[in-house]
Amino acid sequence: MVLRMTASNITDAALDDLYARLAAAEQQGCMRTCLVPECRAQMDIVAALEGRVPARPEWDSDGWKLFKAGSVIPGGGYVCPEHAALVDAHRPQAITQADPPAVAARCTCGWASGWYRWHRAARGLWEDHLLRANGS
Ligand SMILES: [Zn+2]
Ligand SMILES: [Zn+2]
Repeated sequence: MVLRMTASNITDAALDDLYARLAAAEQQGCMRTCLVPECRAQMDIVAALEGRVPARPEWDSDGWKLFKAGSVIPGGGYVCPEHAALVDAHRPQAITQADPPAVAARCTCGWASGWYRWHRAARGLWEDHLLRANGS
């Protein structure tokens, strides 16, 4: 939304709205969302790194776990406290074969997907496995 106001028609309400939007935009880059599909839990990574209290209590990093880069999630990610045990019990691994080129996802619980041609399939297959393991 593009907002254009002249100085003469700026109201307190309009200013409050602008400051709220600015704060939300600044917050955006600080937030990390739980990597479990459908989970909306978020934490403020910058507040955590700087050792300060986040703007909202539900953004606290307490109990969040770092999911290291590699495996089926190349960039790594974070898992919320509610899902930390779930992901711990289902650590994924991507395995590849050269001929024909294919990838499969394998889980520490013993589950394995079939072979897929698209290398990024492994993440989605493991995520779907996580949801089933979580009973959803
Ligand atoms: Zn979660
Ligand atoms: Zn598993």
